[in-house]
Amino acid sequence: MNRIKGAVLYEYNQPVVVEDMDLGAPQNGEVLVKMMASGVCHSDWHVVKGEWSNIPTPVILGHEGAGVVEEIGPGVTKLKPGDHVILSWMPSCGLCEACQIGRPNVCYRPPASTRTARTTSTNKDISFLSGLGTMSTHAIVTEEAAVSIDKTMPFPQASLVGCGVMTGVGAAINTAKVHPGSSVAVFGAGGVGLNVIQGAAIAGATTIISVDLLDNKLELAKQFGATHTVNSKDTDPVEAIKDLTGGLGVHYSFEAIGLVPEPFVQSIHAVRNRGLAVWVGHAPLETPVTIDARDIMWEKKVIGSMYGSARPHIDFGRLISLYQSGQLKLDELITRSFNIDDVNTAFQVLGEGKVARSVLTFD
Ligand SMILES: [Zn+2]
Ligand SMILES: [Zn+2]
Repeated sequence: MNRIKGAVLYEYNQPVVVEDMDLGAPQNGEVLVKMMASGVCHSDWHVVKGEWSNIPTPVILGHEGAGVVEEIGPGVTKLKPGDHVILSWMPSCGLCEACQIGRPNVCYRPPASTRTARTTSTNKDISFLSGLGTMSTHAIVTEEAAVSIDKTMPFPQASLVGCGVMTGVGAAINTAKVHPGSSVAVFGAGGVGLNVIQGAAIAGATTIISVDLLDNKLELAKQFGATHTVNSKDTDPVEAIKDLTGGLGVHYSFEAIGLVPEPFVQSIHAVRNRGLAVWVGHAPLETPVTIDARDIMWEKKVIGSMYGSARPHIDFGRLISLYQSGQLKLDELITRSFNIDDVNTAFQVLGEGKVARSVLTFD
């Protein structure tokens, strides 16, 4: 039995409780990972605020993490104790149509995790968010969900690859396949939006327009490759985007906010004829978006991007090599670092829009 400490949400809109729990040994096909760093993602915040009421509580939060394999269960063949890993929050079966055509991010039969930890003082069973629960000193995950990485990679930077970086950079490179010399608009300059921006820059886009309500975020966007910024508090972003692109609109737009309907609609209005609007933001349940039927008649396309069209066992390594070659900015994403005991403060600064990304550590 392993004694662990994790960040538990018992009820929506209540403070997160950091407490000790007992966790069994890894079973068939599972590995025990000692977590070294966990990013604080907006999706965790959605869960805390009860905006995804399909996620049952109590739950150990966190789905963006990196750590070290400590123990392997029976049948595990690809990992061994001591391996450094990034965790993937999208499990896949390997056999369905989506998996077989190389799109495991939209697997039809993702295996559900039934793994729980038990609180030491009150004997309650707690589940793990996305089968990971990275805001914990340890996690037990399937072998497939732990992607082995280069041991020289620092853990805080590696942890971000597991969600925000994969989601944002992947939306630009994998889902949209942004082409060199193209124009791009990105709605939202948070943890995901900044990564869409740098993904578009890596892909060779030459006009990258960042749209946000907060000037501090727009300043950050420039560091990640935005060539223009629009504060949509005082300016109509669609008009501004058209002005910056000779009246045509951009080749690609990305919705990377996922809070309210308006930017989803604006992302369609912002693209030129035959342009592509990519919806990256994970909206609260029941967020109807109303568009005019004629909005997409000029051969515009709208596509969702799930987890940046990730193939984790291919893409995590590629993102790391982009970081190691100096093309992918990860150090600059980490604005703050908190101990797990201060997880509520980490959520507070996220809610206030003060950080690109915070990372939790467990010392
Ligand atoms: Zn996330
Ligand atoms: Zn599948």
